[in-house]
Amino acid sequence: MLQEILPYLYLLAAAGFILALKWMSSPKTARLGVLAGAVGMLLAVVGTLLRFDVVEYQWILIAFFIGSAIGVPLAVLMPMTAVPQRTAISHSCGALATALIGTAEFYKHPQGGFTMAALVLETLLGFLTMTAALMAFGKLHEILPTRPITYKGQNIVNLGLLALAIAIGVWLVIDPTQTWLFPIFAALAMIFGVLLIIPIGGADMPTVIALLNSYAGLSASAMGFVLNNKMLIIAGALDGASGLILSIIMCRAMNRSFTNVLFGAFGQVQATGAAAAARPYRSASAEEAAQVLDAARSVIIIPGYGMAIAQAQHQLRELHDILTRRGVEVRFAIHPVAGRMPGHMNVLLAEADVPYDKLIEMDEINGEFPVADVALVIGANDVVNPAAQTDPTSPIAGMPILEAHKARMVMIIKRGMSPGFAGIDNDLYYLDKTLMLFGDAKTFVQSLVKELSANGQAAHA
Ligand code: NDP
Repeated sequence: MLQEILPYLYLLAAAGFILALKWMSSPKTARLGVLAGAVGMLLAVVGTLLRFDVVEYQWILIAFFIGSAIGVPLAVLMPMTAVPQRTAISHSCGALATALIGTAEFYKHPQGGFTMAALVLETLLGFLTMTAALMAFGKLHEILPTRPITYKGQNIVNLGLLALAIAIGVWLVIDPTQTWLFPIFAALAMIFGVLLIIPIGGADMPTVIALLNSYAGLSASAMGFVLNNKMLIIAGALDGASGLILSIIMCRAMNRSFTNVLFGAFGQVQATGAAAAARPYRSASAEEAAQVLDAARSVIIIPGYGMAIAQAQHQLRELHDILTRRGVEVRFAIHPVAGRMPGHMNVLLAEADVPYDKLIEMDEINGEFPVADVALVIGANDVVNPAAQTDPTSPIAGMPILEAHKARMVMIIKRGMSPGFAGIDNDLYYLDKTLMLFGDAKTFVQSLVKELSANGQAAHA
């Protein structure tokens, strides 16, 4: 009887995963999506336990408690800005799990042919993703040097190592009795994982993490073939495909080629010329900026990495509320790679309860800038740099940007004149219609709210 309901449980679980991906693509349904994914996973786990006629549950329970003891605090305690690191750790753990299951299967049921080919693919991807994701974590958390480390012939060394690992894998498929080869194969995969990440800059890790997500998914899918488990094949394929699609979207939004990511040729921060720092610009106080906002009819707020670092989302929400109450139309322009991870701005603004319909995607909002009174940039830099459109030699040439420079007036909150992630100067700062508002994003927006409330009270009195 239990065995009969299994296909239905798996079918429901697969539906849960697919709906999760679908629903997570919009902020309105994202919570439901997370729930659908969790329910799907629960059904998949229950189904698998039923399928294998488990007689002794104590090991499963022990693993469950250890996993929860690590996972729950990790999820609760990690701040939003550390989500990319947390994701890297999850990928590393998932990849380690598939690699270890593959290793156990190799020694328990050594068999050649298709199953061994799947097992070799599973363990290769599992071991390399495990170390690569750990390296990505180290770079993102700045435990490891974040600058890209490159040397001559690097790609040849890396590809040579991968080719050697694959050759040993093929040997194992042909002759699975050569068990002594397996530890060498696993070690090569792990070393390749480390070398793969070394040439990539720390701030570029989110794109790489999306790619590692894809590798971990493919590894799990291959494990499904080894264990003859359809659920794993489906879930792994969904994970693999979504990770790949996400990394492609991120590459496009940064105007980088996919091979660039794969071969780690990016992440080199360019030094800004001293001449650039000497250009004249205008700055203003919170009081002056508040007056400009008060007089505006429509304001487009552009949040970026600095907003996330300063955790200014709640103050931004207050600014939105106070301006909206005064009849100003306020919208938030969301660039696909603003911040340091996909959806970074959406998540933070949703946390502060900014209404979803006020978050407008780049393609939709760009046409609105010419009729906006103020573009208020908060801790964003590269995503509003007009050089992407005007300077073909710029490192960000061709990157789609939010066209803040087309607004009637631009105000930019940041601490100084430092560049953003791409390490380049921003022409937007030096336009006649631009006012630089120097300060920490949270403190400055707080001052704006204070000024506006004081103005409001004065107007009422
Ligand atoms: P940027 O990194 O271009 O700029 C952030 C700006 O925020 C800096 O110029 C900095 O200037 C300012 N800042 C930092 N801390 C604060 C603070 N406490 N208060 C106020 N301002 C602050 O950010 P963007 O969001 O514009 O662009 C994202 C960049 O990251 C793009 O180049 C993108 O390609 C890249 N990227 C994005 C990924 C993603 O998935 N989102 C993944 C990988 C890379 P100052 O120091 O003067 O204050």
